[in-house]
Amino acid sequence: MALHKGPEKHDERPVSVNPFFGEANPVVEMTEAPPKHRLPDAPLPPTTAAQIVHDELMLDGNSRLNLATFVTTWMEPQAGVLMAECRDKNMIDKDEYPRTAELERRCVAILADLWNAPDPSAAVGCSTTGSSEACMLAGMALKRRWAKRNADRYPGARPNLIMGINVQVCWEKFCNFWEVEARLVPMEGDRYHLDPQAAAELCDENTIGVVGILGSTFDGSYEPIADLCAALDALQERTGLDVPVHVDGASGAMVAPFLDEELVWDFRLPRVASINTSGHKYGLVYPGVGWALWRDKEALPEELVFRVNYLGGDMPTFALNFSRPGSQVVAQYYTFLRLGREGYRAVQQSTRDTARYVAGRIGALDDFRLLTHGDELPVFAFTTAADVTSYDVFDVSRRLRENGWLVPAYTFPANREDLSVIRIVCRNGFSHDLADLFLDDLTRLVPELRRQPHPLTRDKEAATGFHH
Ligand SMILES: *Cc1c(COP(=O)(O)O)cnc(C)c1O
Repeated sequence: MALHKGPEKHDERPVSVNPFFGEANPVVEMTEAPPKHRLPDAPLPPTTAAQIVHDELMLDGNSRLNLATFVTTWMEPQAGVLMAECRDKNMIDKDEYPRTAELERRCVAILADLWNAPDPSAAVGCSTTGSSEACMLAGMALKRRWAKRNADRYPGARPNLIMGINVQVCWEKFCNFWEVEARLVPMEGDRYHLDPQAAAELCDENTIGVVGILGSTFDGSYEPIADLCAALDALQERTGLDVPVHVDGASGAMVAPFLDEELVWDFRLPRVASINTSGHKYGLVYPGVGWALWRDKEALPEELVFRVNYLGGDMPTFALNFSRPGSQVVAQYYTFLRLGREGYRAVQQSTRDTARYVAGRIGALDDFRLLTHGDELPVFAFTTAADVTSYDVFDVSRRLRENGWLVPAYTFPANREDLSVIRIVCRNGFSHDLADLFLDDLTRLVPELRRQPHPLTRDKEAATGFHH
């Protein structure tokens, strides 16, 4: 969550609120707004308080026009009802809410099967608040396994984790919080994600694992997980180093099983120790749920698992937080039940079709050059053509915002800092119709942008937000 600081100025001038907002006689009701940065002295009637909060929230964006985020912004009304029914159920209270706990267990079993665990009953897993927490847990398991293997040298030796420079920020957090050296494989030329050979070359006896991403938040491409495992197999033959792989499937682990069945990226590869996904991305659930799975008990050191008995029962748990609402887990189970394999395939296919359609239309414009085409994740990145000098991707992003579309522009990391792109994330709910409206707005902007004397967006950071 954003780290907030206290109010800038304490001596706030009270602003009047609409006298209609009161419960009774408008004339004698409150005309002064309550303070915003300290508790009001007295209670407000619920309708007044609700109206004030509601009005302020009107200025938030329209989430369906947000082409920056991967996170679900539309679910069926039935899912909303189920979620409301479960918002008071605490996920950690497995003894009081055994059925909610059972639905979580079934979701783990469903994912173990979907990701081809050789023995689904041996796989272990848990729900989390999202992929970030799932990645912290997976990273901790890798680190602990390494520390146990190297008990004679640790502490003293400094553990490292290998990954592409295109990793999502959660892996930088993991390395920072858990004091692991991040060894990053840079981008090179037209390669915008991990190179298996380069990753293997960075490994040494202090490597806790390699992270492969399905797929990259920068351009929607899948990293070559099977090739990565093969490169690490060869490394083991050469040197004896046995380096496990974690697959960060935040988005792709809920896309590839339905649309790319021939792609081998999951527990079919013996080197893959663990996989995470965001239930709230292409798992199609509102924000607040992720999943982490380990191939078997050996991949998840027993001493990281806690048993709490003071809520009754004795359920093993692995989590960073304690209390959490049951709503999202229940919604995940509902969505699994509701869609089944065929349903998921249909939804993801239509999202991929939309992505390819929009990418194709943008690629056909002289002004733009596609980096990816929306045929892996339904996500693609594009940049301006070499001869476009009057505007840049930041101008495009800023101008699209005037029409309500949130489309991030950002620069790539090493060694492609010279490259700035726009990324479009297609999600369930971004329909063909909405896509056409978006394309209309974009094509209408291009002639105006061409008439600019030079790129105009000075404050690049403020102009656009890159959302992983
Ligand atoms: C979104 C994303 C994450 C973080 O996921 P949250 O569910 O938002 O915590 C991690 N890795 C990748 C590859 C992602 O796309």
